[in-house]
This record gives sequence, C-alpha cells and structure tokens, in this order.
Amino acid sequence: MKRRTTLLLSSAVTIAALFSFNSKVQAAADPTIKATNYNMTVKLNTRKNQLTEKVTMHVVNNGNEPVKNLLVRNIASGVLKYDHKHFKATRNATTSVKSISSDGQKLSYTTGKDKSNLFVNKNLNAGESTDLTVNVVTGVPKRQDRFGYQNINGGKVYNLSFCFPYLSDYRNGKWNYHPYYDAGENRNSAVSNFHVSFFAPKSYKVAASGQSTTKNGKTTITANNMREVAIAASNKFKVDHAYANGVRINDYYLASKNSKQYNKLALMTAQDSFHIFTKKIGKYPYKEIDITEGLLGKDTGGMEYPGLIMIDASGFLQKKHPLDRYNELTEDVSHEVGHQWFYGTVGSDEYMEPWLDEGLTNLLENGVYDLAYTKSKAYCAKLMHSKFYTRKNVKRANKILKENANQFINKNQKASYINYPVNNPPKGVDTEDMAYELGMDFPAVLKVAMGETKFFDALHDYYQTYYLKQATTQDFLNIIRKYDNSKKVNNVINKFIDPKYLSE
Ligand SMILES: [Zn+2]
Repeated sequence: MKRRTTLLLSSAVTIAALFSFNSKVQAAADPTIKATNYNMTVKLNTRKNQLTEKVTMHVVNNGNEPVKNLLVRNIASGVLKYDHKHFKATRNATTSVKSISSDGQKLSYTTGKDKSNLFVNKNLNAGESTDLTVNVVTGVPKRQDRFGYQNINGGKVYNLSFCFPYLSDYRNGKWNYHPYYDAGENRNSAVSNFHVSFFAPKSYKVAASGQSTTKNGKTTITANNMREVAIAASNKFKVDHAYANGVRINDYYLASKNSKQYNKLALMTAQDSFHIFTKKIGKYPYKEIDITEGLLGKDTGGMEYPGLIMIDASGFLQKKHPLDRYNELTEDVSHEVGHQWFYGTVGSDEYMEPWLDEGLTNLLENGVYDLAYTKSKAYCAKLMHSKFYTRKNVKRANKILKENANQFINKNQKASYINYPVNNPPKGVDTEDMAYELGMDFPAVLKVAMGETKFFDALHDYYQTYYLKQATTQDFLNIIRKYDNSKKVNNVINKFIDPKYLSE
C-alpha cells in the first residue's frame, strides 16, 4: 500500500522503548503444502453489486506428514467485518460460503473466531494431491477501497481484491494466516498459476493481473507465477499504454478535466520507474502491468498486486485540484511499481514483517526514483510551474541525504526497531512509521554505510536469490553481511533490527 505522507527520508526517530514477547516470524521456505493451480469462474453482478465465485485449487502435499485439514481463506470475511464496523454504507455486503467439495464429494469445515479461516475436513497424505472447489457469494461493499465499488462519472468502478478464496501457505507444520488489517496487508506469499474466467456486463473494461482478453463480457485471465490476482472493472475506463524494458504498461484511467495530464504523467512515471528499478535491482518477471485509477480513501495513495496497481484519483476527478496532486501521483505510481520488485517478485510476510516490503519499496520510491533526474519528474515540475527541479538540485538532494546518513552513523544516533508485526509496533512508534519511514531509513543508512555499489549489489543478490520465492528479515541480513560484515554495518543493523523477532 502507499500511505500518504509528506516526509522525505526523515532521519531516524529517537524512540527505543521495548518490551519483549514471543512472536517470531516463520522462516520463509516454500510451503510444503500449496495450491499449484487455480481455476476460477467469477461473475460480477453490477445490479446487485455481488460476486459469484467458483474457485478450484489443485492442492499438493510435498511434505513428509499427512494433514487432517486444509485451510482455505475466504479473506473477504475479514474485510467485510471491518467495513461493517466502520462504514454504514457497506452493511448489506456479506460473504457466504455455499459449498466446499473435492472430487464431487461435499466437505465439511469449521471456522474459528476469524470467519476468514475455513478449516476443511480433508485428509491429505504426504505426496498426495487433490482438487478442492470452493463456491462463495460475496457482496462488493460501497467503499472507496481496494475491495469496493464507487460511482464515478455517471458509471461505476469496481476494485476487486481481498475477495477471492485461496489456500493458506503450510510451512514448518503450520498453516500461516493473519487477521485482516485495513491499513496494511495479511496476504499469503506463495506463487501459483491462475486461470480466471471473469464475467461482467459488455460495457465494462477489465484490468487484471497477468494477461487477459475480453470478448462479449467474458474476460479470460492467465496469471502464471503470481502470488494472487486482482481485477478492476469499470464502464468508464479509458485505456492507454506505453512500453518500458519490453514490459507493456496499460493505464486504465477516467475522464476528467485533468485526465490527459494524469494519464501522461502516470505512464511516464511507470516507465521511468521500470527503467531505474530494472537497472538497479533486476529484471521484472512478467510481460505486462496494469495501472487502474479509482478512489481508495483519504489516507491511501495506491495499492499493489502482481501485475496490477491501483492508484487513488482523489482530486483529479474534480475540475480543480491542488497542483501538488501531480507530485503525489509520481510518488504513488513509483511506489506501487516498486512493489512489483518487493512483494510481487520477492514475497515476504506483510503482516509479521511489514518493513520488508514497505520499507524497501519506500526506498525505491524516495531513495532511488526520487534521487534520479527523470523525464517524469521534469514533466511534473512543469505541470506544477516549479523551476526547482533541476539536475543540480537533484544532486544537492543526494548530497544532503548522504550527509544526514553519515551524521546518523558517526554521531551514533538512536533509532527504533522495525522488524515487528503490524499489530505490535515498538512502544511509542506507530505501525506505519515503523514499516514505511523507519523501514526506509534502515536501507537508506545501509546504502551510505556500505557505499552505493556494494549496497545495490547486495540488493540485486537478495532479489535474484528470492525471485518468485519469499524472504524474511534474517534472509535480508544474511545477504547484506555477505557483502559487508564490518562493525559499521553491524552497528546500523543493531539499531534497527531486534534479534528477538528474527526467524531461526
Ligand atoms: Zn506500499
């Protein structure tokens, strides 16, 4: 997610009150039980604002032990529970599991307190596989959100994510799951292959993860090697595209007085981001990415999925918007494109170690894209009538940030730990500051402590090593230390990382 913020590589916050409890992240090996394939039929009823979903997952037990239950997550349940509590207009949207079956046999299941978790009574021996079919009907809430619909321009935009059932990851003898967290994420991380038939009225344009084609209201989606599929559909979308590093970038945007500028700047920013991140970190695994415009609420600038990013359009749809919205647009787009590297390609546990994807992505946005002179930022400055954006000033910003980081290192300034779960940040620190700001300060200071070349070599190595897999903070540290195990670097690590929370 992209949190709206005005901070720019702030020097670290000085709070270090800690309390300990046991809450280690699971080591991020590949799941021993996982769904290798999903076949999904999803029908969107735009009159009832309702999804009818049939999801068949091919579940394989690659472990040495049998299991008695398979954990299916109907993640929409957690979202809607949150929505009902906070937004009156969402109360008629509910989710209901119609049936779960395997090979034509109906299966029973139990749920705990969190109704997202469906523990299906299905035995699966070591080495065996099965096809599990889940039928659900889920209402789409009226909310400006990553899961919700809005009325825009006399039409509708549907953001469809956090609403498709999936198999939880099974690692180290445990199903891995977390409760819904509205300001962040609680998704699974293993990659799979998705084949989706999505039905919507013919007037709707459909954007989706992976590659898709639409004919007579049916969109066929193929999304291979992805962690999930997200869909955005609207009868008001216009589409434009551009290319970067051989990747096709589709921009689904809405008509407005500013839409020409919005579309041009969104595409340019995505192109520049792809160029820079590919060069610095490594190659993007997919052929295509969709950018979709919608409303995501006042605190959210965007949301990331493999092969699709949602961008908040608040302000742009009005006749007049503050000029600074152009600057925010470059931040939102470069941030969500950055997640294609950290979350999309290198997965991590977004709930237990939110800094690992948000902090590294924030570094790509603020410490990599922002610190390079780009055409998109130059165009943005022009739209904002600003003369400040020059090569000289970009150089100056680089210099100041380097000086700040050196001061932090040499004056032995205090920081705060960042590798805590979303529901339990260190005392006195708010979760978003921990994950986004301090989570970015850590690699930003490491970059200066190690020197740029060594730092980006290490980051590239981390990317290649965990490409389409998942990593933990411990994995990240191991690679950093492989490139620089000096006292200086370890001092930085010790300021930000609490060893009590590292996986073994
Ligand atoms: Zn983010």
